[in-house]
Amino acid sequence: MVIVAYISELSLWEVAINQEKPMKCAVCRHGETALGCITATLGQQETIVVVREVPAQVCRQCGEYYLDETIANRVFALASHSVQRHAQVEIVHYIA
Ligand SMILES: [Zn+2]
Repeated sequence: MVIVAYISELSLWEVAINQEKPMKCAVCRHGETALGCITATLGQQETIVVVREVPAQVCRQCGEYYLDETIANRVFALASHSVQRHAQVEIVHYIA
């Protein structure tokens, strides 16, 4: 399963941070989440970073996803490397 979401500010990611266990989706309020892999796209200033193969809890119903805090922090770290290098578009794999 691949979901691409454009998030314009890194701070918005805090909303998506959540626990590892399956849970009720906070967006559609019906779906249960299941562990899956997503493609996260983050934008900051002139840089767009696509992070592939990010483990996340994904809603079976609407596709909303929730990242564990540790995973989200790693995604931020990967993205900020690209921002520091002033890359325009960069595709990285979550798994080092
Ligand atoms: Zn949902």
